[in-house]
Amino acid sequence: MHVKDRAICLRAVNYSDTSQVITLLCREHGKLGAMAKGSRRPKNAFDGPIEVFSCGSVVLVVKDSGGQLAALTEFHQEPRFRQLTKRLAALHAALFGAELTEAFLEEHDPHPALFDKFLKFLETVQDSASDSLVWAWLILYQLRLLEETGIAPVWDQCTNCGTSLTSSDSPPARGLHPTDKSNSPPVKGESGAAGRGYHSAVYFSSRNNGLLCSACEGTFVEKRAIDWKIVEILQQPSRLPKTDIETLKQTEALLIYHLTELLHKRPKMAKYFS
Ligand SMILES: [Zn+2]
Repeated sequence: MHVKDRAICLRAVNYSDTSQVITLLCREHGKLGAMAKGSRRPKNAFDGPIEVFSCGSVVLVVKDSGGQLAALTEFHQEPRFRQLTKRLAALHAALFGAELTEAFLEEHDPHPALFDKFLKFLETVQDSASDSLVWAWLILYQLRLLEETGIAPVWDQCTNCGTSLTSSDSPPARGLHPTDKSNSPPVKGESGAAGRGYHSAVYFSSRNNGLLCSACEGTFVEKRAIDWKIVEILQQPSRLPKTDIETLKQTEALLIYHLTELLHKRPKMAKYFS
């Protein structure tokens, strides 16, 4: 089957002296692995060798049976992301975005909106005037990626009891927890009762994909205490570009923790944002 689409390269690995195996994110056809035969020859059908972030219109021959590499036959590259290398943080963020996009998408599962957001993310990091803006756009893209793949974390209520945890200047206090006992978690020893209402911190559980209130956190082993200012940013990501670098680093540390749990391994590019 011949397929025409717009695509961006997420990964490129040399294959023999003359070819490459690439992973493409196609707008209408999703993530695809493809063989770019002869792409490393001086004269080829792809406007030169293919690199990560090579972007443009492609023609592919996609095999009907799953699991096989498509064959890339044309790639008209646009010089869109060649300035990414000008700022090291921007390049690292872009590579981090590509790594996560590849990791979270299944082959042949189209996400046109995510494709558009990924390109927008690359453009904004490429044009970022400061490292802190790069961090902000990276965090925003990571949130969009989770949203578009249907696993957006819950940032406004306790994922165990449903207590609303709205953005507020004051931390949750005693008495805010609902008195409904029907969905209360089992109390582990005495710590569950001791935890109820006494902690001002809020917790994030990756396995619960969201927040835990101070009353519920005691019964959860996998969790991480987070500052309220982080919760407020995650509730209102439009504030990210105006957020100071220290807070951005704390926010990214939480996301790396969560992404590592979801992928069962730490993303390679995380080391540049730790
Ligand atoms: Zn709760």
